[in-house]
Amino acid sequence: MRQKETTLNTRVNGNNVSLSDTDGYRQTAEEIGDNHIMTSIDTPLRADAFKLSDAEKMKKIESHFREIMETLGLDLNDDSLRGTPERVARMYVKEIFSGLDPANKPKIALFENRYQYNQMLVEKDITFYSNCEHHFVPIYGKAHLAYISNGKVIGLSKLNRIVQYYAKRPQVQERFTMQIAKELQNVLKTEDVAVIIDAKHLCVSSRGIQDSNAVTVTSFYGGKFQEEATRLEFLKYIEMKGQY
Ligand SMILES: [Zn+2]
Repeated sequence: MRQKETTLNTRVNGNNVSLSDTDGYRQTAEEIGDNHIMTSIDTPLRADAFKLSDAEKMKKIESHFREIMETLGLDLNDDSLRGTPERVARMYVKEIFSGLDPANKPKIALFENRYQYNQMLVEKDITFYSNCEHHFVPIYGKAHLAYISNGKVIGLSKLNRIVQYYAKRPQVQERFTMQIAKELQNVLKTEDVAVIIDAKHLCVSSRGIQDSNAVTVTSFYGGKFQEEATRLEFLKYIEMKGQY
């Protein structure tokens, strides 16, 4: 039965985006997960997100994860399982979700564009591993970035680091794409930025609909990349196979 409920609205890029369909139907938690709905460009974080230290967070997660395992009926006295709650807690805080903490944001130094290189720079095939925020299972794939310098240039490894920082959060692919694009626009002081994310979602292949072939592609084209010729040039470079 469809219920009429308050429409869940959010602001994306200054525009109101609705998560309800036209008759005001509000999606259930299950539907939001399976439809992979995103509510905001910013990762939804509570105001007290960093009140606890990493060590305190790991202690808490360890005890909760132990409880999950015990609830599932697993015997935590088994040698193989005993250390799992602690390992998961450390992995969450220090590795796969470390990008939630702004303290881990890469420091970006820009350089003067001495060569007056004013063409497109493309950094492609950046491998990333992230996790779906609806199911906490992996999303992995390639990111392709491009920008046209507005007088400043960025170290190539920093492009990679920006991708890795935003990947290390519970994510939705659309938001991941936007967060990288906005960060590039901010640091490079230009609208002329493009991002393509080409990814596999384990929540689609290993559970739910169990489609192991499906891939998800998302894109962002800012400034000059909204012009067809510039966009096609970028896409051509992505398809190019290098002879290394
Ligand atoms: Zn998912």
